[in-house]
Amino acid sequence: MINLLGLDRTAMENFFVSLDEKPYRAQQVLQWIHTNGVQNFAAMTNISKALRQKLSETAEITLPQVIYEKAASDGTYKWLLRLNDGNCIETVFIPEKTRGTLCISSQVGCILNCDFCSTGKQGFNRNLSTAEIISQLWIAARKLSKTNGLHDHQITNVVIMGMGEPLLNFDNVLPALNLMLDDFAYGLSKRRVTVSTAGVIPAMQQLRELTDVALAVSLHAPNDELRNKIVPLNKKYPLKELMAVCRDYFKEDRRRSITMEYVMLAGVNDTPQHAKQLISLLQGVRAKMNLIPFNPFPHTSYQRSDRDTILRFRDILMKAGLNTTIRRTRGDDIDAACGQLVGQVKDRTRRSERLKKGLAGTHDHHTIEELN
Ligand code: SAH
Repeated sequence: MINLLGLDRTAMENFFVSLDEKPYRAQQVLQWIHTNGVQNFAAMTNISKALRQKLSETAEITLPQVIYEKAASDGTYKWLLRLNDGNCIETVFIPEKTRGTLCISSQVGCILNCDFCSTGKQGFNRNLSTAEIISQLWIAARKLSKTNGLHDHQITNVVIMGMGEPLLNFDNVLPALNLMLDDFAYGLSKRRVTVSTAGVIPAMQQLRELTDVALAVSLHAPNDELRNKIVPLNKKYPLKELMAVCRDYFKEDRRRSITMEYVMLAGVNDTPQHAKQLISLLQGVRAKMNLIPFNPFPHTSYQRSDRDTILRFRDILMKAGLNTTIRRTRGDDIDAACGQLVGQVKDRTRRSERLKKGLAGTHDHHTIEELN
């Protein structure tokens, strides 16, 4: 049985052609599934009975199970979703006055092991399938719709900033992005769908060629020595190379810029000296800085920079002409804030051991192995 939830327009058209059907059926079925939230073929009334029968014999529309929904005092929601194999992932919705942002996961756990992120401390289990990635949007859209009665919010933005490194699961993330942008599915604007990466350079180049979504880079440190420590991926893809890719990234559209995420860790990366290094690092890069106050989690030795330090850091950047915002901490009373998502990762075999056994399932094995 093929799960139609994971097929973007091209894949869906190919599927119908393989059934000896017309490719335009793809648009109809995409609309039923994603726009109307229909899960059974019987309800697809603009499709002949015979074809509906054929579909129910060859295909299915299956979703993860919602284990719980938590609401934070600030209106943020978090869902724990259970996948077929028992692994669980987390998805977060952040309502604001003028927009509603859904933060979705791309992997079960994460292989990168950034020192300040609790997802990394959970270890890595596997990549999410396209169906599992897009199902987070499907489920949240239903939960937040008027007919559901409980809440009434529109999802205007999607950020791939939940659990995992999306660019180490590029092949499954790309069709999910296509669905988000497709008018027959979710029809989101390309500027309102953001992929966040710690800097997987080859996949950044692929992303740039194959789609047009917004990009965020988890920078977090202004020099290699510090970044090697807190974002180990930097050993493979150091700042000089990363900045070279960032300089070119939106060269076709001069109005667009990259969001640089920078977690504020007390005494680690938050001094005026760091701010000045950052300014010279970002010379010639069209970037917006987004400072993220560190969100603590159990057993971490890091602390959040205090408010005055963050403001002083921002002011130095602003004076140098860098557009800088401070991310408001949302949903931290239900562990839904940045870096607090853990899900339930089964079989948390240590990364390096998994890699030795060749089980990691990323297309970038050797890259990661060198980090450990
Ligand atoms: N792997 C991708 C996607 C995760 S995005 C990436 O690294 O970009 C999640 C964002 O939250 C990243 O910028 C991440 O560095 C940041 N983050 C992780 N842990 C955090 C914490 N404890 N407090 C604040 N931000 C954190």
